[in-house]
Amino acid sequence: FAQKLQPPGYAFYSSDMMSIAKRALRMENALRTALLNNEMSLVYQPKVNVSTGVINGAEALLRWESPELGFVSPVEFIPVAESSGMIVAIGQWVLESACYQAVEFRRNCNPNFKIAVNVSIRQLYEAGFHDMIEQTLKTTGLPSSALIIELTENMIMDDVESNIEKLSKLRDIGVGISVDDFGTGYSSLSYLQRFPIDQLKIDRSFIMEITQANVKAPIVKAIVSLAHDLELSVVAEGIEEQVQLDHIRLLGCEEYQGYFKSRPVNAVEFERLMMEDLRKCA
Ligand code: C2E
Ligand code: MG
Ligand code: MG
Ligand code: MG
Repeated sequence: FAQKLQPPGYAFYSSDMMSIAKRALRMENALRTALLNNEMSLVYQPKVNVSTGVINGAEALLRWESPELGFVSPVEFIPVAESSGMIVAIGQWVLESACYQAVEFRRNCNPNFKIAVNVSIRQLYEAGFHDMIEQTLKTTGLPSSALIIELTENMIMDDVESNIEKLSKLRDIGVGISVDDFGTGYSSLSYLQRFPIDQLKIDRSFIMEITQANVKAPIVKAIVSLAHDLELSVVAEGIEEQVQLDHIRLLGCEEYQGYFKSRPVNAVEFERLMMEDLRKCA
């Protein structure tokens, strides 16, 4: 009864907001020392050739184990790192670590291995971003053609002219550009055509529509055909079941990622996966 006298939802809402704000603040503080204290690491998820089933490359995904907050998902801490500006230093660490690891993978398993790294728009807007990429390629010894930068659809559609210029400069030196989570944003198709990109990644939410009972997935079909008309390659995200793989193969999708092949794993485990593929092919 007492609750009924309060403005509806008010007390609950404000205390909830408070705890969310508190957690964000604790996270921001904990993030400051995370790199220094070695709390961050990378895991690798295979990018698989749809027709051969063999691993072509990997996407590097960031992991953070905080002594104070425990395991925190990148979905939660990346936005905090972005708004505080720490993503610039963290992103630089990710890029360098991923490039070093890619050099190892190429030496040990597959000379054509490519590494995909997620980049936040905040990094792209940093004045020294382009030079940082070039310098990292130089110090790690990774060829530019073995690096793919992933940017989400909404990010690149934000400041179109300036992004086209920045991405063109990267592409000129041979770096691949991939549009992540494609289909969830609001791309203007005429802009899409002008963007210097190589690849579209179909968001997992559309792949989830493909089920045993209903393989019809009109959005997936449309994205694949759009990509091919624009001479881009297509990656399907979040393939978990055989029926999904069969369907995207039918549609002509070039690559996939998903639990069906493997969850993101550490570098040692990843090499084991690549060796397994090599044995199957031999
Ligand atoms: P994303 O780039 O779209 O990465 C794909 C996400 O889907 C990853 O989640 C991956 O673990 C997950 N995933 C892959 N296959 C499957 C599947 O079959 N089923 C399901 N349910 N999930 C699957 P994760 O690692 O939690 O990363 C979430 C997001 O955080 C990434 O989405 C990316 O936007 C961001 N992120 C991760 N690492 C970095 C980074 O180093 N820098 C930046 N800027 N963002 C990052
Ligand atoms: Mg990605
Ligand atoms: Mg994605
Ligand atoms: Mg995603």
